[in-house]
Amino acid sequence: MAGKNGKAANGDGDSHILVEHNGESVRTTVPDLQSLRNRQRFPFPTKDQAFADGHTLAPADELEDLLQSVIDGCEDFEFLGDRRVRILWNKGDKLVWIGKAKKQSEIEVLLSDGIECVILIALERCIMAGLTYFQVEALIDHELRHFGEDEHGLLQVVKHDLEEFNGTVARYGAWRPNINVFNEQLALFSVENKPSPAPEPEREPAAVS
Ligand SMILES: [Zn+2]
Repeated sequence: MAGKNGKAANGDGDSHILVEHNGESVRTTVPDLQSLRNRQRFPFPTKDQAFADGHTLAPADELEDLLQSVIDGCEDFEFLGDRRVRILWNKGDKLVWIGKAKKQSEIEVLLSDGIECVILIALERCIMAGLTYFQVEALIDHELRHFGEDEHGLLQVVKHDLEEFNGTVARYGAWRPNINVFNEQLALFSVENKPSPAPEPEREPAAVS
C-alpha cells in the first residue's frame, strides 16, 4: 500500500512503473499511485466466497488492514486506544444501509474476549455500488465516528446531526454522491493532503447509518 504521506518526487526524479488497474497494465509514476488506488474499485469478495458456510455474517478479513490504517491515520480515533474493533461482512440482500456501527453489550464484550466495537458492512450493497478503495476507506471512517466516549470514558454510540460527520467530510470530501449538501462546508476545510476525489459510482450507494 502506498504511504499516505509519501513524498511526491516531481520532475526529473519520477520513476515510471507498471501497475495493474482494472485489468490493464498502466504506466504510472510513484506519486500517482495513491490517486490511482483511490480511483480503483475495491476488490470485494463474492457473496459465495465471503459466506461459504451459509451464515449471514462473516469476518471481513479483506478490510482489516484498511480499518487499521484509518484508525492509525487520524487522531480523532485515539480514544479507541486498546479497544478492540472488528469489521464484518453482512450478507442481508435487502438491507437499506451500507454500513452500520454497533456497540457490543456488556455480555457480548465478555463472551467475545473484549470486542467492544463492531462495524457491519453490507457486502452486496458495496458490490452493487461499485465502491472504490477511497469510498470504502471513507465508509469505514464514517462508521468509526459513530463511536465515542462519554464523560466517564465509557464507550458510547454517536449520531450524526445531518447525514454525514464533519470529520469524514474533512478527511474525504464528498465521498458519496448524496452529500453534496456539504460542498459549502468543504470550502471551510484545508485541502492539504486530501486524496483525489473518487469517481461517481455506477449506482448510488445506499444510505450509510
Ligand atoms: Zn452514520
